[in-house]
Amino acid sequence: MVAIVYAFLVGLCFGSFLNVCVARWPRDLSVIRPRSRCPHCGHQLAWFENIPLFSWLVLRARCRCCDESISAIYPLLEVGIGTLWAVSVWHFGPSFTAIRVAVFLTILVGVGLTDVKHYLIPDGFTVTGLLWCLGTALAAPFLGESLLFAGPYDALVGACAGAGLIAVIGWLGEAALKREAMGMGDMTLMAFVGAALGPARSIATVFLGATIGAVVFLAVVYPVAVMRRGRVTPQTELALGGRALPPVEMPLVPFGVFLAPAAVIMLIWGDRIIGSVFPAF
Ligand SMILES: [Zn+2]
Repeated sequence: MVAIVYAFLVGLCFGSFLNVCVARWPRDLSVIRPRSRCPHCGHQLAWFENIPLFSWLVLRARCRCCDESISAIYPLLEVGIGTLWAVSVWHFGPSFTAIRVAVFLTILVGVGLTDVKHYLIPDGFTVTGLLWCLGTALAAPFLGESLLFAGPYDALVGACAGAGLIAVIGWLGEAALKREAMGMGDMTLMAFVGAALGPARSIATVFLGATIGAVVFLAVVYPVAVMRRGRVTPQTELALGGRALPPVEMPLVPFGVFLAPAAVIMLIWGDRIIGSVFPAF
């Protein structure tokens, strides 16, 4: 119980730092300097205004200097990450595995947020994640081996397999569509995910991510784009003088948003899923 509460508090701090990363890395700003400021008046936060969750509650969601309201997004992300850390320790016990799972999930949340907001995946997340996965794979035999994550050799091969598969898909997509199909961010994301999951599950992650993406695209993105353009009714056809409707404008769909949940599913159920699809595997 003490360990779970402690994990929640540690998670709050990581959530707080994740807020800074999500806000600053897409703008190429340092996450260390300068210190956090109020986005409205520029007032530099004192240490007691910068305590995760508690400051937001004590200040009642208002800046102490200019009285402008502070978005609830910040404490929500902190509580969300705190909960992930607590659940991780609750499920795996106070162990090295719990920390590895919690860090993996925290980074993927950051990736999903920046990709959906800015269409980019900062190197800060993926390079840190890749080094973390390779480092913990090497340390695992001494700190408590976990079957969830790939061993050192599989981590290396997994990183290459994940990034390589994205590169091949991007190359084929570019040849077919005559425009960039995959971003560099997707490739670095899959290097990180591959280092955590190993080659088989990282390749499965790409296919699962593409499947989730296709379902969301057909069920949500495409209908919304068609609706925005206006429906084809006899009236609109008449109004347009029999001319064709303007083409549906497709919004950009960030792939990392789908790869991140696919990676989580593959971390937890990957071996079972692959085993049921390819029984001989
Ligand atoms: Zn202020």
